[in-house]
Amino acid sequence: MLTEGEERRYARQLPLLGIEGQERLKEAGVLIAGAGGLGSVSSYYLAAAGVGHIRIADSDVVDLSNLNRQILHRVPGLRKALSAEEALRSLNPTIEVEGVDVCISESSIDYLLNDIDIIVDAMDSFEARYILNLAALEHALPLVHGAVSGFDGQVTTIIPGRTACLRCVFPKPPPRAAPPVIGATCGIIGSIQAMEAIKMLTGLGEPLASRLLIWDGRCAQMDEIPIERNERCPDCGGRSVSGEAGFRDDSREEP
Ligand SMILES: [Zn+2]
Repeated sequence: MLTEGEERRYARQLPLLGIEGQERLKEAGVLIAGAGGLGSVSSYYLAAAGVGHIRIADSDVVDLSNLNRQILHRVPGLRKALSAEEALRSLNPTIEVEGVDVCISESSIDYLLNDIDIIVDAMDSFEARYILNLAALEHALPLVHGAVSGFDGQVTTIIPGRTACLRCVFPKPPPRAAPPVIGATCGIIGSIQAMEAIKMLTGLGEPLASRLLIWDGRCAQMDEIPIERNERCPDCGGRSVSGEAGFRDDSREEP
């Protein structure tokens, strides 16, 4: 049930989501893995949209050089998980926000996925992304991958049992680097990730599944690369997933 205050807060999106869609967001749990540039944007829009339970994990400390793009944070020196929790709570006090000050690792991931319906990959390393990928496969949870570099970015929605996994698409990690980034690139890619999560949670629209969307900010162009499952993938090859993860497709009439 939505409260009267919630109906007013979400009045401009209720015609799109319907009461049922809004209630699905309210009941949903989203893990935002990383409170950096992508996590700042995706968590902000998901909090504003009324996702009821947001868990945002990061073990880092805010640095002055983060502030060109990590718009959740204001004060260098604070723990990012706490800084993010405070910012999201003040943006939308009607939802539950949990900042968790841990790195994404094999030992932390099971706790982080407790009561979670979808994972947003807002990491900056493929080592951590592979941990998310395996966990998404094991828990049959959708994973919205995003990455940025410079003016460019990429997004895809991985649905265990239906699409290629992250390892099918990127069998080996690219060389580790801290690329220069324009904050607005994180804004574009993080916003698409938030949109994907909202669609998956409500069952509306068509997910960015089996397609890698590539954003070229210098030319303001988007392209898509079709992606296919690799039957010999060490992560998902031969794995049977019971049912299909996440996407709420019960052929609901759109309002
Ligand atoms: Zn795979």
